[in-house]
Amino acid sequence: MINRRKFIQSSLTSGAAVPFASALRGLEAQAETGAKQFSWSESMAAGGGVLVTLPEREPARDMSSLPWHMRVRRVGQTNMTEHDPAVMNIEEWADFWHSAQADVVFVSVTGILAFYPSKVPFHKHGKFLNGRDFFGECVTAARKRGMRVVARMSPDLNWPDALAAHPEWAMRHRDGSVQHNGQEPRLFKTCMFSSYMDDYVPAIMREINSLYEVDCFYTNGWPPLGSLPDCHCAICSKLPSSDTPAYWRIFTDRVLELWAKYDAIAKEKNPESFFFANSGGNVRGGPNLARLGETAKWFQADNQGRTWEEPEVWGCSLQGRVCNAVLDGKFAANVTAAYSTGSPGWRNLSKSAEETRMWLNETLASGMAPYLHFVGAEGGAGLDLRWQDLGKEYFRWTAKHDRHFANRRSIANIGVVIGQSTQLLYSGPATARTRHYMRETTQGIYDALLWRRFAFDFVHEDRLEPERIARYRALVLPNVAMLSDRQCQQLRDYVNAGGSLMGSFETSLYDENLKPRANFGLADVFGISKAGEAVGTNGNPYYAWIEQENAARAHAILAGFADTRWLPGAENRVPLNPIADPLLTVVPGFVRYPPELAYPPVPHTTEPAVVLRDKGAGRTAWFSGDVERTYWLTGHGDLLRLIHNTLRWLTRDERMVIVEGPGFVEMFCWETDPGYAVHLLNYTNPNTHHGWLRSVVSQGPQQVRMNLPSGVRVKTVDLLRSEVSLPFKMNGQDLRFTIPSLDDYEVAAVTIT
Ligand SMILES: [Zn+2]
Repeated sequence: MINRRKFIQSSLTSGAAVPFASALRGLEAQAETGAKQFSWSESMAAGGGVLVTLPEREPARDMSSLPWHMRVRRVGQTNMTEHDPAVMNIEEWADFWHSAQADVVFVSVTGILAFYPSKVPFHKHGKFLNGRDFFGECVTAARKRGMRVVARMSPDLNWPDALAAHPEWAMRHRDGSVQHNGQEPRLFKTCMFSSYMDDYVPAIMREINSLYEVDCFYTNGWPPLGSLPDCHCAICSKLPSSDTPAYWRIFTDRVLELWAKYDAIAKEKNPESFFFANSGGNVRGGPNLARLGETAKWFQADNQGRTWEEPEVWGCSLQGRVCNAVLDGKFAANVTAAYSTGSPGWRNLSKSAEETRMWLNETLASGMAPYLHFVGAEGGAGLDLRWQDLGKEYFRWTAKHDRHFANRRSIANIGVVIGQSTQLLYSGPATARTRHYMRETTQGIYDALLWRRFAFDFVHEDRLEPERIARYRALVLPNVAMLSDRQCQQLRDYVNAGGSLMGSFETSLYDENLKPRANFGLADVFGISKAGEAVGTNGNPYYAWIEQENAARAHAILAGFADTRWLPGAENRVPLNPIADPLLTVVPGFVRYPPELAYPPVPHTTEPAVVLRDKGAGRTAWFSGDVERTYWLTGHGDLLRLIHNTLRWLTRDERMVIVEGPGFVEMFCWETDPGYAVHLLNYTNPNTHHGWLRSVVSQGPQQVRMNLPSGVRVKTVDLLRSEVSLPFKMNGQDLRFTIPSLDDYEVAAVTIT
């Protein structure tokens, strides 16, 4: 048996950097698991923790009293091209979606090209229309088969004749020139503050209402997602700059003003009709998501596939969590592209079946309705029909199990505050200004939460009322830089009432107008005070030094670090004033190159790297560095372990549901109408971080444990993907069962008596 400490010291002095690092990793793995081999099941994916009893069940809903769109479970869209009136067989199109058991189909009215003989000025007829009522024929074919129809418009672009007659409709560059579509330069971009939206769009809606029976109206291409418009037309040049909180509020006001106007027009013919628009944009959103959530009857998550900027496999379920944060159980559908998304992309060609299926899996798992989308009916002539069998098979499978996808509420005890205003308007600290800054932060905490299968929800910063957040054992603030005084007070009240809080870096250092504060808005809550401006690095980031005497007490957040005195710090930090009894202190960053100088010039400081407080029921943990983002950039396992340990300490390791087993898995757990449903998404795949999935890497047994509320009895446990019933054990209220193997997706549906 080697003396670990002595071994490490001798490695350090010998200068054998690589052997030291690898030896240390090996020792850590052994120290943590007591095993010779480091494996996921023993270290990361293992559940562990203290099972807490699930809350009393929500009262049953009367499904028949819900509006029609709340009962929609499958949505189909063949996105019509100008050529489709020449090549699309309408009966075959309607037969396909009907055979897939779609409840509703999108049919294009548009606004860029009319698919019916429109008389609205500047509503240009497609060149293959030839006076035909293509839209009307599609509506008739869909309704004949019992499918509802969404009238789909596109208010974002128009043609040169419209521009010549209405130069005020165009978005303008700073120099006054017209903004055109990047791919088809004949089309100009329309300004959402102009009369185009007040006059032209309503004229089309009223014409549709006068001619057809449609169920509701939708606008594609507007409002923008994930960013704000940058227009310098006569109206917009009088508004605040488009990257400011003041503009964001005006932008949201205008979106909701038009939304209300269009909704009223939709209802002029049919009071059950309504309007909805393009939404999504993940945590960045576009309009204020809390306000949008109050307005939207149908949240159209236009999150169709991985992008070059967001290549992670979980992009769809992340969007689902955003929807759940703001919708209070209202309807959301996520648009899955069956065509080849990405850049470059192929709009008329199927992507891999494994990838399309995973996006649909994520849609269902995160509580949204599956929606399949393909562009153009050229395939109807036999060019590429691969997506159709996949879609039909998947939709028909969901139809067999609809009742288990009727979710009442999510089961989670950690809330991650999104910080939408920070995501949209803050671009990182002065030391690292980049539009990717918050994306990297969000992905870091998301990835970390998945690795240990924590049950978590997203929480919007404008929805921190006590009745919403009291259900969480801990809230996480991953560099939520912008928080108003009121939001800080809500978080303070939450901790005083026994809630736990984790915060990092510049959280609360700015108000809701992005005005810097002299000290953190949450300084008193975390017991911290700012000692200086953000510090980056010119080489090595800082290290966190484990204070010997505190380490000896084996604090829970240092579990697994017995053989090291220093840990990786974050790339950027906001220095804090010294505190009594620190656990981790900062070793300032230093050069990486040349190696001759790669040692800490200051070996030890009194600057805290983490500040922990234990106040009665509630606990708080503050990291002075951007630990989540640094974890994302590097994948350093010590940072992952530190985040995991901290979350376990904050929640007292309480778990709502424990799923133990191998694999990198995203978990959702729902209280459903029939009982409960545990959804497992298997991301263990070579293409998890860079698309697309081309295979399924099956994983071994997953052991599930939940503690049901008193009086709740289990009738059956069924696996919906495998379509088998499982044996289960009840010990008091403690439910246990084992999912024998996990392919790409499984849903364990618990039916109660
Ligand atoms: Zn404008």
